[in-house]
Amino acid sequence: MRLILLGPPGAGKGTQAKRLEDGRGLVQLSTGDMLRAAVASGSATGRRAGEIMARGGLVPDDVMVGLIRDRVAAPDCARGFVLDGFPRTVGQAEALDRMLAGAGAALDRVIEMRVDGAEMVVRIAGRFSCAGCGAGYHDRFRPPERPGACDACGGSEFSRRADDEAGTVAARLEAYRARTAPLLPYYRERGMLASVDGMAPIDEVARQIAAVLDGVGA
Ligand code: AMP
Repeated sequence: MRLILLGPPGAGKGTQAKRLEDGRGLVQLSTGDMLRAAVASGSATGRRAGEIMARGGLVPDDVMVGLIRDRVAAPDCARGFVLDGFPRTVGQAEALDRMLAGAGAALDRVIEMRVDGAEMVVRIAGRFSCAGCGAGYHDRFRPPERPGACDACGGSEFSRRADDEAGTVAARLEAYRARTAPLLPYYRERGMLASVDGMAPIDEVARQIAAVLDGVGA
């Protein structure tokens, strides 16, 4: 099963992709995580991408396609993957189609996570994660059970993404509207698109995604 989760920043793509990885054995391919790892490593790609990410822009298609090409062809992805954050432009979608066709494969489904723009700012502004194990939290919707301690590993260090600050969030939402939203008609015309209510509670969104996947025989 090869899937794309599509939706603006804060829609919950990462949360649901992680669930699909744990529940269905699909490999989560998050280009945001790949880029953050490249930034942390100080590589040339990381330096170039880091500056663009800090202002909420989109990293150029050629860089992104280069980053994802090896991953989708890696052996662990043979049993299926869920793309979270890619493609973000029509150019990336076309490159992905070519990449998969070259490998004799195709996408099974593109799932749009429908959300309300204003709510996205609240969701993004409150999120943070454990610096030790990466478990995700939210000031309002999912605080740790014991304040200051990670539920998963007990760690006490937390971090917030630099690009989750309000000014950058506005630029990221605008990039979604202008460059990524055109992927909705792109995939709709190809009969690939299904929609779920991204505003629903996490378990309900997961249930709606499962219903879509069961419908394609996953
Ligand atoms: P994310 O973690 O998916 O919100 O991505 C964080 C940032 O990484 C985005 O705001 C972009 O600057 C960059 N990025 C991630 N994926 C892509 C992509 N497919 N195309 C262009 N830029 C990307």
